[in-house]
Amino acid sequence: IVQFKNVKKSFGDLEVLKGFDLDIMPGEKVSIIGPSGSGKTTIIRMLMTLEKPTGGEIIVDGENLWHMEVNGKLVEANEKHLRKIRGNIGMVFQHFNLFPHMTIMRNCTEAPVQVLGLSKKEAEQRAVQMLKKVGLADKVNNYPFQLSGGQKQRVAIARALVMQPKVMLFDEVTSALDPELVGEVLQVIKDLAEQGDMSMILITHEMDFAMEISDRVAFFADGLLMEEGPPQELFNNPKSDRLKSFLQRFS
Ligand code: ATP
Repeated sequence: IVQFKNVKKSFGDLEVLKGFDLDIMPGEKVSIIGPSGSGKTTIIRMLMTLEKPTGGEIIVDGENLWHMEVNGKLVEANEKHLRKIRGNIGMVFQHFNLFPHMTIMRNCTEAPVQVLGLSKKEAEQRAVQMLKKVGLADKVNNYPFQLSGGQKQRVAIARALVMQPKVMLFDEVTSALDPELVGEVLQVIKDLAEQGDMSMILITHEMDFAMEISDRVAFFADGLLMEEGPPQELFNNPKSDRLKSFLQRFS
C-alpha cells in the first residue's frame, strides 16, 4: 500500500535520510524505531506531503505521491493530486492537535463534511461509531479542555478513523502523556490493529508495544534503514551493533 523507493531527505547540508527502501503491504502494521534525530518523523511528514523528499519516490496505493501522469508524461504533482492521495492517509500526532473551540463531535465531523462532502448527519453517525470504538461516545458534547490527555488522544484517533483511511500513521502518540494514561491509548491502537485491514505505520519508543502489535519493525539510524524484520527477530536477535546498543537502553 505504501512503497518507499530510495527515498532521501536533506535539510540544507543536513542529510537526514540517505536513501531507503520500504514496502508496506495492505493491512500490515509496521513500527519505526530509532534514536532521536534519525528521521522517523520526517518519514511520516513526507507521507503526509508536509515535506518533500530530495530524492527517490513514494508510492501510495499505486500512485506516485509527488508526481502525476499528464498525457503520458510524469510531471510535478499539483495540490489536487496531493489532496487525493492524502485522503488515503490518517494521522495521529504526539500533541493531539484537536480544535480547542469545537466540541468532540465537531472535531470528528469537520473534515468528513468539508473534505469528503458527507452530510452533517452521515458524518455524525460515523463519528459516534468511531467514538464508541475508542470508548468515548459519551463525550460528544464536551470540549477538548474537559478531557484527560489520554481521552484527547483517543478522540484524535477517532477523528482520523472517521475519514476511513487505508493507512494510519501514529507519531509517538503516547510520548506527551502522563505514564498512567499511556495504557488506555495503546490498548485502543492494539484493538484497532487486531480488527483491521487498515495498514498502520507507528513511530514509537514503547518497545513492548512495538513487539506486540507489529508485523514488522524497521530500525533507522544515521540516516539509514539499518535493520528490518519481524519484531521477535529484531528484538531478540539484533544483528548490528547500532541496534544492540539502542535496545540496551530499554532493557
Ligand atoms: P525524535 O525521535 O526526536 O522525534 P526523529 O527520528 O523523528 O527524532 P526527525 O524529527 O525526523 O527525527 O528529524 C531528523 C533530523 O532532521 C533532526 O536533526 C532535525 O533537527 C532535522 N529536521 C527535521 N525537520 C527539519 C526542518 N524542517 N528543517 C531543518 N531540519 C529539520
